[in-house]
Amino acid sequence: EQLPVQTNTGNYNVYIGKGLRHQVETYLPKQYNQVFIITDSHIANMYLNDVVDSFSSEVKVSTYTVPAGENSKQMDWFHECHTYAIESGLERSDLIVALGGGVVGDLAGFVAATYMRGVDYIQVPTTILAHDSSVGGKVAINHPQGKNMIGSFHQPQAVIYDTETLDTLPGTEWRSGMAEVIKHALIADEEMLEQCFDLPSFDAISNETIADLLKKGIHIKASIVQEDEKEKGVRRYLNLGHTLGHAIEAESGYSSITHGEAVAIGIDFALFLSAKQFPEANLPNEAFRKWLEKHNYPLSSKLEEYNLDALMEKIKKDKKNNHQQIRIVLLSSIGEPTLVPYSEQSLMAELIEFRNEVR
Ligand code: NAD
Ligand code: ZN
Repeated sequence: EQLPVQTNTGNYNVYIGKGLRHQVETYLPKQYNQVFIITDSHIANMYLNDVVDSFSSEVKVSTYTVPAGENSKQMDWFHECHTYAIESGLERSDLIVALGGGVVGDLAGFVAATYMRGVDYIQVPTTILAHDSSVGGKVAINHPQGKNMIGSFHQPQAVIYDTETLDTLPGTEWRSGMAEVIKHALIADEEMLEQCFDLPSFDAISNETIADLLKKGIHIKASIVQEDEKEKGVRRYLNLGHTLGHAIEAESGYSSITHGEAVAIGIDFALFLSAKQFPEANLPNEAFRKWLEKHNYPLSSKLEEYNLDALMEKIKKDKKNNHQQIRIVLLSSIGEPTLVPYSEQSLMAELIEFRNEVR
């Protein structure tokens, strides 16, 4: 199955299905003499050999493995990747392969964006979250002062998504990725939202069902990115749940909670605010809260852990803000995202009320 993605800087396909990691070369838009695979230490043990073996003997394959975890999205590892690429003789016309989740995708994508002023790369995602991060061409590493501070826009040549790899994905990573799946449903597709609400426990989801949801999520993300590649308008709506989500992640030092779990709390807050802003709207607040509980997302326990003033400091740094106003993505109904401004004081009052409600 393939989904086309169109951007100003190039068109590419997303291929999604079972066992695709065994046929990576077949899905490339052209022939390459050499490929350089970047992956992380967890994935290397499980899937690296399959991908290496998927190339025919005419292609020179070299690999580089970084430690698993957010810490590898960092200047030192970025530099190591470049060093190793040079030592492997990787040329301007060769290909970089990002095999892994969002961490590897962002790191390897940024290496590809900068190596010899830019070489081709493909994404081979292995997490649910990566249905989001592998599409759209945003690539970056972190700076000690802030996440994703050093980066670029660089579109891949293809995304080759093997849903079989999700069989080994741990439960917390399922929760993390499914928060972005339901986010896509909330901003664009009411039917998909119903489908999300009806899901069995994540470990009981069939390969067909998850493939279907990932396709729908990718389709939504791709259409928004197509319209607004550099995030001047509608792409901002993809930030539903991310204002508070990013603040929670930052407060937890990017360790005790995953990105998507933090975003799930942020979405719950956005729905709480939306219900107040749009009292006439028929919003799925109750169903969403039930969904969080059913799938064991941390909600009240997590909010209790944080100092609200500290969270507010983080929120104020959000890139979507304009002058003194904090702008938050809310829903005026399912499929209708909108940006709503808040002053610091009014948002603080809402945060306190929200915390009391989920307590
Ligand atoms: P990740 O890449 O760290 O993967 C999560 C964990 O799961 C890691 O320990 C990894 O080794 C392991 N793992 C990956 N695939 C596995 C598999 N199939 N089986 C077993 N274990 C597996 O994290 P992520 O959640 O995929 O990505 C998070 C990153 O994505 C963040 O750095 C975030 O900033 C970035 N991101 C980027 C964009 C974008 O548009 N570029 C969008 C959203 C998030
Ligand atoms: Zn996100």
